[in-house]
Amino acid sequence: MSQFQSVLGLPLRHAGKVRELFDVQYEGQPAFLMVATDNISAFDHVLPTHIPDKGAVLTQLSTWWFEQLGVPNHLLSTDVPEPVRGRAVIVERLDMVPVECVARGYLTGSGWAEYQSSGTVCGIRLPAGLRDGDKLPEPIFTPAIKAQLGEHDENVDFATIARLHGEDLAARLRDETLAIYTRAADMAAARGILLADTKFEFGLRDGELVLADEVLTPDSSRFWDAQLWRPGESLPSFDKQFVRDWLAHDSGWDRDGTPPALPEDVVAATRKRYLEAFRRLTGRAFGA
Ligand code: ATP
Ligand code: MG
Repeated sequence: MSQFQSVLGLPLRHAGKVRELFDVQYEGQPAFLMVATDNISAFDHVLPTHIPDKGAVLTQLSTWWFEQLGVPNHLLSTDVPEPVRGRAVIVERLDMVPVECVARGYLTGSGWAEYQSSGTVCGIRLPAGLRDGDKLPEPIFTPAIKAQLGEHDENVDFATIARLHGEDLAARLRDETLAIYTRAADMAAARGILLADTKFEFGLRDGELVLADEVLTPDSSRFWDAQLWRPGESLPSFDKQFVRDWLAHDSGWDRDGTPPALPEDVVAATRKRYLEAFRRLTGRAFGA
């Protein structure tokens, strides 16, 4: 069920919850056209309502980060077919390393859940007495392995990645992930945003790690407003707060069947959040 295949007329390689990949050639080399839709997901469901401009915001934010980070990445061109202009990029077709390379600077989400039951996150022992949302003594690498469609990714320890991919590649994934996280978290902090955690995916080019997929977007990261950071209290994510609140408290949805359509004010408030994240991080208005 692709949103853009018929208008583009290109072979569809992959359709995820939010993005679609098409086969293209770029300067004679096989490449992908990576298109971000305006889909939004919450509680592991894709909602039936679109958030206007969300795909374009995420694609352009990701592109901005690739430019800032200065590490080898998969971006080839932003010159894309008219129907997906602004929401798509052309990327190098890479052999992806099937590891979700997560870095956490703060304890929350699945990390907080594991910590409460074992005092560890992905096998890394943490100090006692931390609260949901606390800053960690130092950022940690907490890899996960992609689950089958519809299931949660599985958090694993470093030794598991080393067993699957070798000690050398595992160490490079960890070191690269933590280095990029630290750089990005510093940049975000300077703009009043805490990068609680984020996920990278890497591909290989002649044995070298290349940063791929989307990077440092609200879909792959937890951004918090530094001013509203209160460890121990519930910390609303920057982008989906209204959606999650409405679904959980006002929609009457049981989280099992098809999720309901979002009301207009929730769509508008959410769209504003995506634009605000873009503006605060990049320092310029979206579309300007
Ligand atoms: P979902 O997000 O719905 O859980 P997904 O991760 O498979 O599933 P997307 O993130 O929308 O869906 O799809 C992007 C896919 O493209 C991912 O499988 C990602 O690993 C892959 N990918 C990203 N960049 C590249 C690249 N440069 N070369 C090859 N594959 C890539
Ligand atoms: Mg993905």
